[in-house]
Amino acid sequence: MICVPIMVRDPALALQLATAAKAAGADLVEFRLDECFTGDTAAADDEIAAIVGLVSRSPLPCIATCRPTGTEGGSYDGPDDARISLFERLGTAFGRTRDGGSEHPPRYIDVELSTWQRSANIRQKVKLAVDHPEQVRDITTSLILSSHDFNGRPADLARRMTAMREATAARVHKIAFRARSVRDNLELFDMLTSAETPTIALGMGEFGLMSRILAPKFGALLTFASLRKEEVTAPGQPTIAELIDLYRFRSISPQTRVFGVIGSPIGHSLSPLVHNAGFAATGFDGVYVPIPVPGGSDADAAYVNLKATLLEFIDHPQLSFSGASVTIPHKENLVRLAREQGWVMDETGAAIGAANTLLVERDAADRPASVRVVNTDAPALVASLAAVGELKGRRVAVLGAGGVARAAAWALAREGATVVVYGRTKAKADALVAELRKSLADTGKLVAADWSLLPKSCAEVYINATPMGMAGGPAAAESALTPEALASCSANKMGTVVLDTVYNPVDTPTLRVARHFGSRTVDGVSMFSSQAEAQFALFANGPAPAGLFDRLARERLTASVP
Ligand code: NAP
Repeated sequence: MICVPIMVRDPALALQLATAAKAAGADLVEFRLDECFTGDTAAADDEIAAIVGLVSRSPLPCIATCRPTGTEGGSYDGPDDARISLFERLGTAFGRTRDGGSEHPPRYIDVELSTWQRSANIRQKVKLAVDHPEQVRDITTSLILSSHDFNGRPADLARRMTAMREATAARVHKIAFRARSVRDNLELFDMLTSAETPTIALGMGEFGLMSRILAPKFGALLTFASLRKEEVTAPGQPTIAELIDLYRFRSISPQTRVFGVIGSPIGHSLSPLVHNAGFAATGFDGVYVPIPVPGGSDADAAYVNLKATLLEFIDHPQLSFSGASVTIPHKENLVRLAREQGWVMDETGAAIGAANTLLVERDAADRPASVRVVNTDAPALVASLAAVGELKGRRVAVLGAGGVARAAAWALAREGATVVVYGRTKAKADALVAELRKSLADTGKLVAADWSLLPKSCAEVYINATPMGMAGGPAAAESALTPEALASCSANKMGTVVLDTVYNPVDTPTLRVARHFGSRTVDGVSMFSSQAEAQFALFANGPAPAGLFDRLARERLTASVP
């Protein structure tokens, strides 16, 4: 189930939001009463009447929550007694509302475990409002006992779970804490699969997003989603549209295979958009989620992070983790890990020393049967240059000496092109060339040059593999190519072709300069779509729908232009 939390400030507005939540596909709403209930005796009658009216008119079953100020994320600062009396009143709401309608109790009331444990008096009062084994009245409201930690995983988590199990009046247990890394999701999943009582187990913050999306895979009672980005009530909460349309929440089951994009930062990655759409279009039972794995303070820390995450994910018995796109800063780490673990690696990944794809084949019992590491960046780059025709013998200039330049230089030299790598740090270009030559038969086809020689480059194909022109990057307004470079070869019979690997924006300063000088251009979206399609074919064991990835990526990138 999907529950939309609504912070109630004005009951009429809250009712509108609940109606909108129903229209958006929610199953439940949570009315957060912290800000509309003061606990003030003088105002209590009116406030309670308004809340009973709201709950009674709610178009969806609801959870009533009035979270106190303190460590669990609430803002109610009145006395506990008043709040518990409110619950008691709500649980027994079977009369007439002030405007003559019939009263309806909430489906659930949510009480913090810490409040529950505070006094026998509170427990007794809460019990009067909820259905439980010793309840003698005809009550339909159930108790959610909840525990939240906005700072991290509580050290006494196991004790909290035991205390919840001992509270037999609780029909639902809820645990939410700020996930410290994506690995915390696995503990939340284990809690869900071993639970005997309906449970909600959520990781807050960007690392916990997986636990929110994959709730139905592990049998969670519900997940929370906001109506709109501005109405998020807990860090990391997705919107209901993201859950339903992007992650296809309704089709996630225990059998659904899990894929994702691993890297940092990945908040703006286009990969979840295209891969999930591909799964939907082909009817493949998979879901693709962001898996943020930070780089760490140095190269070894980054490697340790990636290794710990991947090994735990692959081995987890119920996660059905089946593959991932791997991006900055882990492409080299993936190859290092593959070598260490003896995983199968394709020739491109091994030669370049970087890979962007992990594929985990699982047996009928969902155990990992084999792990493969593949580089789809290099073939995608070659595929994006299909318009050039035969690459053999072409003079290619690769601008930059980083990861993408490495893939480009190797792939094009392999195709028989003569490749010059231009580096602003010449030593980096030299090192790249020396390394790649080890796995090339014809080493004379790959050389390094200083950036200052670009005006004399006389190449037929230029590839921008620097971040120049990238939105939000260090040189967002700059073209990597100058008119001098493009005009350096008047004897160029095929005309110059310029490929920009930068894809945000789609039309970059480099491409504009190239067009101005009559060059044919290929944008970075073509390469992005092509590498993603090759990954998809491995993930889903079948081709991506023709043109879908390219169309979606272009739509998203053009929509996000201010
Ligand atoms: P990287 O490893 O950081 O390498 C960037 C290279 O660009 C470095 O050699 C750097 O030089 C050079 N550079 C940076 N700013 C420069 C400037 N102002 N002038 C000259 N050289 C400059 O990055 P990467 O992973 O290779 O990615 C490069 C670009 O590829 C990214 O910006 C991204 O937009 C694009 N990309 C596209 C796709 C796709 O599918 N289309 C996929 C991945 C990446 P130093 O070594 O001297 O610092």
